[in-house]
Amino acid sequence: MTPAPIRVNEIFGPTIQGEGALIGQPTVFVRTGGCDYRCTWCDTLHAVDSAYRDEWHPMTPQAIMMQVDLLSGGKALTVSLSGGNPAIQPLGDLIDLGRRKGYRFALETQGSLAKDWFETLDILTLSPKPPSSGMETDWQKLAECVAAAGPDTKTVMKVVIFDDADYAYAREVAARYPELQLYLQPGNHTPPQPGEEDGGIDMAGIMDRMRWLVDKVTTDRLYTATVLPQLHTLIWGNLRGV
Ligand code: SF4
Repeated sequence: MTPAPIRVNEIFGPTIQGEGALIGQPTVFVRTGGCDYRCTWCDTLHAVDSAYRDEWHPMTPQAIMMQVDLLSGGKALTVSLSGGNPAIQPLGDLIDLGRRKGYRFALETQGSLAKDWFETLDILTLSPKPPSSGMETDWQKLAECVAAAGPDTKTVMKVVIFDDADYAYAREVAARYPELQLYLQPGNHTPPQPGEEDGGIDMAGIMDRMRWLVDKVTTDRLYTATVLPQLHTLIWGNLRGV
């Protein structure tokens, strides 16, 4: 049977993973187009907003892996599947194909849609969205995502934090999933607008939030959390494709 095409926004790298469990590690990104959320501070509008639909191309798993192989020089590394929400795309065949070639697969999603192929991932990052996003978490759906990943996929949680309400939300995530590693990331307030390559970066604001977040975590003795900035934002701002 011909595999269903995957809607791809961009494939780029190798670069480093800028967030969470694989921060600093070399990776090639496959960013899919389309998202079921509309977060107020989304920093990947080009993979969400239908104004960019012309940039989303249907590709087969073979064509994607060919591109990944070209970028990686044929040497297997971790492929980071992101979006948009990559969970709305049929990625099972791509992961099977890549794993047969020795690649590892990491995927990040907000946890609104569970897929049976989550259990074939190496790492699943669930990034449920806090109140400042304007979105509401369906905790049942998030639980289904954790269950779908099963015991063989390393599942971690990541929460972006702008304010006290977001921090309280992160504490709820920690309470619901004490067994999962929790990454806390200060938010970036200046996403690029449609048609704009770089929305600029409020470095001072990010660093203020980083210090504030470290203070919260240590004061509250939330010792299970890992506080990390977005490394790629510190290096390249909001530039795309790096
Ligand atoms: Fe953007 Fe992620 Fe929110 Fe989708 S879930 S709108 S990609 S921040």
